Amino acid sequence: MIRPILPYGDVILRKATAEVFPDFPNLPGLISDMYETMYAASGVGLAAPQIGESIRLFIVDGTGFEEDEPGMRNFKQVFINPVILEEEGEEWAFNEGCLSIPGVREDVVRKSRVLLEFQDEKFEFHEAWFDGMSARIIQHEYDHLEGILFTDKINPMRKKLIRSELEHISRGNHRADYKMKKPFQRR
Ligand code: ZN
Repeated sequence: MIRPILPYGDVILRKATAEVFPDFPNLPGLISDMYETMYAASGVGLAAPQIGESIRLFIVDGTGFEEDEPGMRNFKQVFINPVILEEEGEEWAFNEGCLSIPGVREDVVRKSRVLLEFQDEKFEFHEAWFDGMSARIIQHEYDHLEGILFTDKINPMRKKLIRSELEHISRGNHRADYKMKKPFQRR
């Protein structure tokens, strides 16, 4: 089921998220909803808070970009209770976007490599290094679990320039061609 994506301004996007346990009700259903929702919005990553679930879970699928980014070949994965253990490497800027902030793209500087501990959908533990674009996607989605959005990380002058656009989005005036939750709409 495609779920509406929470827009910039929704308080859930700013909340600290809770650890996920194996008895979470219908976790496979939630994960499948997240994939469906992400694909419908042509995204490469989606964090649970973006559909209103304040838990430590995000999904990625960068396999569609394999041609430009060979490192994305097998980059389809569910990340549960992830912890960034290390971040290293040269800082690089990339023009990021976010499904919760449609129509806004800005350069964000991040380190190029991350060591991540996480559990998969069977709650098995993994520890792995990611670099380049896959590290970038993980850092962006991980930030969502901490209540951080990429617009928090751009330079203050750019932030000023997009302020009114962010206000529009938080009022429900956006250009997304996918389903978004209306502001102040209670479920
Ligand atoms: Zn995002």
